[in-house]
Amino acid sequence: MRHERQVITDPGAGPPPLIDQFGRQVTYLRLSVTDRCDLRCTYCMAEHMTFLPRRDVLSLEELYDLAQVFMRGGVRKIRLTGGEPLVRKNIMQLFELLSPHLQNGDLDEVTLTTNGTLLARHAEALFAAGVRRVNVSLDSLDPARYAKITRWGRLDAVLKGIDAALAAGLKVKLNAVALRGAFEHEVDDLIRFAHGRGMDLTLIEEMPLGESGHDRGASFLSLRDLRLSLAERWTLVTVEDRTGGPARYVRLAETGGRLGFITPLSCDFCARCNRVRVSCTGDLFTCMGQEGSVGLREALRGHHAETSVDGLVRDALACKPKAHAFEITGPAVSGIARHMSVLGG
Ligand code: SAM
Ligand code: SF4
Repeated sequence: MRHERQVITDPGAGPPPLIDQFGRQVTYLRLSVTDRCDLRCTYCMAEHMTFLPRRDVLSLEELYDLAQVFMRGGVRKIRLTGGEPLVRKNIMQLFELLSPHLQNGDLDEVTLTTNGTLLARHAEALFAAGVRRVNVSLDSLDPARYAKITRWGRLDAVLKGIDAALAAGLKVKLNAVALRGAFEHEVDDLIRFAHGRGMDLTLIEEMPLGESGHDRGASFLSLRDLRLSLAERWTLVTVEDRTGGPARYVRLAETGGRLGFITPLSCDFCARCNRVRVSCTGDLFTCMGQEGSVGLREALRGHHAETSVDGLVRDALACKPKAHAFEITGPAVSGIARHMSVLGG
């Protein structure tokens, strides 16, 4: 791994901003660093997954080069995701490569979405590399149910990871996928747990991405419905938050903490979309809820001398769809074949 990569010092002098055909500027890159994971959450993956051959996955250097292309185009925030980003060998090197860009102002933020199982090991190094916020996915505080949802995860490892992250000075936000059944009762415990430790909690509506071997129609829980039932027990005060993200926030008067709702199936957040996603194979997805992608890997590896990565990105943005293509019809949701772990949320 080479560490002496060129650092962009003046992105303002570079190419024009990345703006799509609807005038939305892309300032946020979600970069998946691996398709692998140490868990198999039922809504995300099948139990037996075939992972990508390593040669298809971008090296850490290539991921960094790609990040620089987006930075030159005005991306200010990068989130590393996966699969599980912390299972990627030497992943801290990528954080270290990005770190100078936080110091020199190219980037506002480098963040991470993680299942938390390895967070205790990496929390301090993440903080040292300039990471200030992490999202940790946690769907249940009940060890047995946590193990069932993740197929074999250990809750105590995640709780240790969260403690370590908070102790290292990281701001932690919890993400929980809302599923019909026990979750509807457990959500109050998750709220108390998160807000008691100064963490926001965001509830995510299950998205119909990829075959995972569980019945999405049966597990789908509308957050609109959950919110109505929460409002019977908690005082939800709407918070204006226009960060371009899909979450809508309320503050709970009883705890003072924030609760977010990500409702891709029941609300439209596309008009404010400022993000693109790149898979660990270098496929650019300008919309998570559409099938289409543009491969950047070959250009990144210099296999097409006449094609620049920047040019491919701009061509793709010219076709960024106006809105996602998810649909919910009665108990059935129609989705797309790609697993969430390809893009990492
Ligand atoms: N492994 C990391 C984690 O779990 O946080 C990062 C990748 S994971 C794919 C990112 C987020 O996507 C997690 O919060 C997970 O709960 C969520 N997710 C996975 N599959 C989903 C689905 N089908 N619908 C909604 N959210 C999903
Ligand atoms: Fe792994 Fe995250 Fe998918 Fe769970 S949600 S299987 S932790 S990638």
